[in-house]
Amino acid sequence: MRKNFWLMYSFYPGPSQLNPRIPEYMQEACASGILSMNHRSPEFVALSADVKRLMREKLELPEGYSVFYVSSATECWEIIAENLIAGQSAHLYNGAFGEKWMIRTRQLGIGVHALPFGLQEAIDWEKLDIPAEADTLCLTSCETSNGTQLRNEDYEQARRYFADGIIAVDATSSLGGIALPWEQADVWYASVQKCLGLPAGMALMICSPRAIERAKELGRTNHYNSVMSMLEQAQKHQTTHTPNVLNIFLLKKVLEDSLPIHQIEKMIVDRYEAWVCFFQQFERLNLLIESEDIRAKTVLPVKGDVSFVEEIKRMAKNAGYLLGNGYGDWKENSFRIANFPSMAEEAIGGLREFLTKNFE
Ligand SMILES: *Cc1c(COP(=O)(O)O)cnc(C)c1O
Repeated sequence: MRKNFWLMYSFYPGPSQLNPRIPEYMQEACASGILSMNHRSPEFVALSADVKRLMREKLELPEGYSVFYVSSATECWEIIAENLIAGQSAHLYNGAFGEKWMIRTRQLGIGVHALPFGLQEAIDWEKLDIPAEADTLCLTSCETSNGTQLRNEDYEQARRYFADGIIAVDATSSLGGIALPWEQADVWYASVQKCLGLPAGMALMICSPRAIERAKELGRTNHYNSVMSMLEQAQKHQTTHTPNVLNIFLLKKVLEDSLPIHQIEKMIVDRYEAWVCFFQQFERLNLLIESEDIRAKTVLPVKGDVSFVEEIKRMAKNAGYLLGNGYGDWKENSFRIANFPSMAEEAIGGLREFLTKNFE
């Protein structure tokens, strides 16, 4: 019966199941005329100003933090390398996205310090040796590839152990789902096709006054994405190039609708706990991440025998539920379930019923 609501419901952690009101908002965007308007027009400026106001209201973004509309999280790796790392960066990571960020930064000629940590480990800040030459520390809030998440104390410790530098955080699978400790870092960025439930093709990059100061000190202006030019335009609620106006419009609508972030986070944690409890019934399945305090609340990788996992994914797809493939080393023996705010209770219930009926 539930399948009538959708042909295929995606539990993929990105691109994720769209916020259910997107079709309606897209029509509204077309009808409003905004998609045919210049990005220097008063209408666009008002839209952009609204989004920033809503980010302060709903996501508790502090005053003084600048918001930039860019194309992707991947692009942010370049923007940070080209505009904000003065000489060398340090990268703390335990998974594929954090590692790719490090590699891309290195490819751009930056001296990088790779500080990988174990999948099942929390960061041990006392033992950690961040080289004194590093001026930028790169962290991944939620490692979408393996379902780990930084603890709140990690951000505090990062500030403590890296007090003079800039801290940059990839918040792609966190922004919009959990409350972020904005003041503890200087650059936060996220693509919109994960936790925010929007179509792909845009990312938000958020900079603290300290990050802006660094960009000004370095004064680099020779790239497509120059933070100096981006800032100059953002102060007028404009952009350096014609931006993804449709996605900015959709973001505004989704934020308008959305509860304050602390309430969303509570719902996410409740749903996460229900998933953990649910998978305890399955003898042949285990959560990939063993320790509760480093488990992501927004992405749950579940592991089992290769053939069992393959069968679950195949049958789920036939039943209209798309499960996320495992990633990297766990590609074959795990699947991932997104726990993003836009996901419908009916679909979650439907998937659980399906799994219980066929695999318990
Ligand atoms: C998906 C993802 C990215 C890449 O996002 P793009 O929009 O493809 O650039 C980067 N970091 C994390 C943590 C992600 O989950």
